[in-house]
Amino acid sequence: MSEFRADLHCHSTYSDGSLSPQELLRLAKSHALKGLSITDHDTIEAYASAIPAAQEIGIELISGVEFSAMHHQVSVHILGYAFALNHPALHQLCLRHKQRREDRNQAILEKLAAHGMPVTKEDIEDCLSSLLPHEKCTIGRPHIAQVLVKKRYVETVYEAFGKYLGEGKPCYARGDPFTVEETINVIHQAQGLAIIAHPHLIKDSQTIYHLLGMNFDGLEGYYALFAQNQIERWLKIGKKKNWLITGGSDFHGDIKPSIPLGCSWVGEETFRRLQDLHKANNLI
Ligand code: AMP
Ligand code: ZN
Ligand code: FE
Ligand code: FE
Repeated sequence: MSEFRADLHCHSTYSDGSLSPQELLRLAKSHALKGLSITDHDTIEAYASAIPAAQEIGIELISGVEFSAMHHQVSVHILGYAFALNHPALHQLCLRHKQRREDRNQAILEKLAAHGMPVTKEDIEDCLSSLLPHEKCTIGRPHIAQVLVKKRYVETVYEAFGKYLGEGKPCYARGDPFTVEETINVIHQAQGLAIIAHPHLIKDSQTIYHLLGMNFDGLEGYYALFAQNQIERWLKIGKKKNWLITGGSDFHGDIKPSIPLGCSWVGEETFRRLQDLHKANNLI
């Protein structure tokens, strides 16, 4: 028997990944992963097609999402797992995010135009995969960055973020974000677990201190291609708090080609714990 591995962090075409849920599941199977959670930004739309596909392909799937939140001026990503997929509070938060993103993307487009780089909504829609209805997808800066490349304003997505779209850069807009506390609350209302995503990327120590005092259930200890010495601190903190330690690749496909699916993962014990909760909440 090969080792049980489950990747609990990846993105589909419903947010800024380049593979559809079915393609993601097939790739997971070919990488010998046993379990997966698809954690699109601010949407759970992938699950309508992912659930039947997972059964057919033979991958164990648990509900997941990656919510964007803000703690004071600092951006924080929060993973939700094993929640009830039909919970109204969760759907409501996803809808509110959709509205927030529409307003915020408009603000970004206005800033880009003011910097001599006009981009229309149609440019963005053209650039998106024709696979999915746009109204169901989370559209964000990675899509805008791809248009900037296509229109030859920049050469790469990384350059687009580095020069214009990254936090604090001239064409960045924050939008009207949700707080960490209200995001945790909604995940808990839907009976899920709220996990601090990639804590290694949070540089502000005051923010870390505040987050560690909040009502989280765990942290993402294993992440992307980080080396053991980069993750050790977080594994220690998670253990000390008796929190669940999760892990995943943050695979996005072509958008971040250096990160392969399954490069970070959790073992069977952690996965089963989440899966039991997922099954209880989704009656399957
Ligand atoms: P948004 O949700 O619209 O704020 O976009 C956030 C997403 O953009 C992240 O989850 C990453 O996938 C991507 N992203 C953020 N910073 C960068 C960067 N410097 N280079 C490439 N992609 C990035
Ligand atoms: Zn992303
Ligand atoms: Fe993230
Ligand atoms: Fe992510």
